[in-house]
Amino acid sequence: MKKKIITGSSIGFCFGVTRAVEMAMKILDKHKHLATLGDLVHNDLVMAELKKRGMKVIKDISEARGCPFIIRSHGLPPDILEKVKEQTDIIYDATCPFVSKVQELVKALSAEKNFIFLVGDPQHPEIEAMKKIAGNNCIIVKPESRVNFLHIKAARWAVFAQTTLSLDLYRAAITRILRHIPAEKITIFNTICPVSIKRQNEALKLAGRVDLLIVVGGRKSSNTRKLVLTGKKVNKNTLLVESPSEVKSLNLAKFQKIGIISGASTDVSCIKEIIRILSNHPAQKNHRR
Ligand code: SF4
Repeated sequence: MKKKIITGSSIGFCFGVTRAVEMAMKILDKHKHLATLGDLVHNDLVMAELKKRGMKVIKDISEARGCPFIIRSHGLPPDILEKVKEQTDIIYDATCPFVSKVQELVKALSAEKNFIFLVGDPQHPEIEAMKKIAGNNCIIVKPESRVNFLHIKAARWAVFAQTTLSLDLYRAAITRILRHIPAEKITIFNTICPVSIKRQNEALKLAGRVDLLIVVGGRKSSNTRKLVLTGKKVNKNTLLVESPSEVKSLNLAKFQKIGIISGASTDVSCIKEIIRILSNHPAQKNHRR
């Protein structure tokens, strides 16, 4: 008997990643080389393909000299963009439209003299860019930290979430913030991307229906890691798998029903290959549930 594979309804690239990867492919067809500051998307398989076509991942802006440059889907801090402009005239913007909207909102609320809270990972490029856009009157609140901000004096406050944050963590952070600041002084924005919310809900539902939930995605991908944490709330047998070769090395004998979901920067061809491998994997004989 073969294993039963249940695939989530929203897998593969989200629209922001699709846009960035397609843009990069077209530019590479035209120019044959293209620089990006850090990985264009947080997925090693996708990056390997782009590098094969001529993409150069740079760490220092000076490496972009004379080379077409692409702003990745997480966006770029304004000061860094100015430095890129000193190195090259050919700049393409692949910032996800959803991230751009949040950036505009942060900029507008900051200009209206709100003190800005950004709930997210301080080391994530999206939050780094957002912080620079917000300016000095801004702090990053790690979702699980018990930061004390009573010393900050402000008349009004605005709260934003990293677009890939889990709704639970954002709610918990807001509850903590509201212990210190009166609700009438705060504007709270739900800036978690609809793609992230949909995939987190699916992770919860699917994790409850299967013996094993496999989340396909890059280990560097924030939204992929959130999906794993979400799945684990319901099913401890939730695994992050980055590539088809990893699946081959897994001991899956005791799992009859396997669910598959993916992060937003996972290519659908990688997921299909994983499904093919799993489908050909024999189920354990006499397995009972
Ligand atoms: S997860 Fe959402 S915010 Fe992030 S790139 Fe995809 S569509 Fe854009």
